[in-house]
Amino acid sequence: MPIYEYQCKKCGKEFEQLVFGKESPNCPECNSAKVCRLMSCCGFISKGSGGETVSASAGASSCGGCSASSCAGCGH
Ligand SMILES: [Zn+2]
Repeated sequence: MPIYEYQCKKCGKEFEQLVFGKESPNCPECNSAKVCRLMSCCGFISKGSGGETVSASAGASSCGGCSASSCAGCGH
């Protein structure tokens, strides 16, 4: 069973969660269902930033790496 990294889009909390199928977990902090899977969504977008992780600079926009419209993982 895979463990995925998620970031809550509401409070910004990052957490790891066992996921079954296509289920999305809720945030352990605020229980929001609006979470972003970092692995398939934000985490892999590190191109051109010299190895910096996108999530670290996401800041205000909780999912800064998902400017692309192809981000199915977080509903953009
Ligand atoms: Zn949250």
